[in-house]
Amino acid sequence: MDISQNQATSFAPVSSNNNAATPIPANNPPIINPSSTLSAGTNPIVNDLSGTTAAGTAIQIQEISTGVFSATTEKSKYRIEYDMNKCIGAASCAAIAPLTFFMNEENKAELVNGGEWDEDDVILSAAQSCPVFAIKIFVKATGEMIFPTEEVY
Ligand code: SF4
Repeated sequence: MDISQNQATSFAPVSSNNNAATPIPANNPPIINPSSTLSAGTNPIVNDLSGTTAAGTAIQIQEISTGVFSATTEKSKYRIEYDMNKCIGAASCAAIAPLTFFMNEENKAELVNGGEWDEDDVILSAAQSCPVFAIKIFVKATGEMIFPTEEVY
């Protein structure tokens, strides 16, 4: 992981390194603080936000374009694409899958980068609950988008 990219974000690293001003050792990648504020549009076009949970389950989050995040975990058969630009703050995703999504101070959903994510069926339900189709679900093995089933944009 390119640590310099992480340090360029607005996220506050937590876990074993709570001080954003303290250099992060290369062998100790930062975990994104779920309570931190993600400022859409301030991150590099491709921004690797991946971290390793305390339990050792890798959560991989990458900003693939401004405000659009691709994310998965080792245990999940799904890959999420979440477009924060579309989020209207309805909060149903965070209510259904609170281990995967949380609402930030700006009432936008963010992906949790720590702990254990919800099970796949719960994450799919969260995506289906989003009134603006901000969350897409892909099968990692095939690349097939299973939700939304049709392009809705
Ligand atoms: S359900 Fe959709 S609109 Fe509502 S908070 Fe989640 S991503 Fe945003």
